Amino acid sequence: MFGFLKKDANDKQIGKTSPHLKEIDADKIDWKSKPDAYWKEVLTPVQYEVTRKEGTERAFTGQYWDHKEVGTYTCSNCGQELFSSETKYKSGTGWPSFYKPLNESVVGEKKDTKFGMVRTEVHCSRCKAHLGHVFPDGPQPTGLRYCLNSVSLNFSPKEKSE
Ligand SMILES: [Zn+2]
Repeated sequence: MFGFLKKDANDKQIGKTSPHLKEIDADKIDWKSKPDAYWKEVLTPVQYEVTRKEGTERAFTGQYWDHKEVGTYTCSNCGQELFSSETKYKSGTGWPSFYKPLNESVVGEKKDTKFGMVRTEVHCSRCKAHLGHVFPDGPQPTGLRYCLNSVSLNFSPKEKSE
């Protein structure tokens, strides 16, 4: 494949919530106006390379490709809720794969012709973080495969009801 990072994406600094998203009201921030220098400072090198430079983590190295907990996947850059574990499925690709986002407004798409291929790039609608690509070979009911990078995501487990 093409454009993979040399480093493993399994970056020990990445927890359930990116450090820069703790103790702030992420809904009140104008994420699109943040300069590149901001992202370089707050993200880990792998997160920055993937989300801000459209890199791709190596297959089977990220923390979520084989992750099966129930909960919500959020943007690792701005905290917006993006995908539910309910639409996650085993694609066999080595990247976390979903057949649809939480709703259509949380992701944006654009045509990507890098590496001589025509693909559809997927990003967070709130901060423009690159998430991955969407392909038309997913399961029903959508037939879509959102093939994402683990470092683009944080995970919030569902609170257990009493
Ligand atoms: Zn975002």
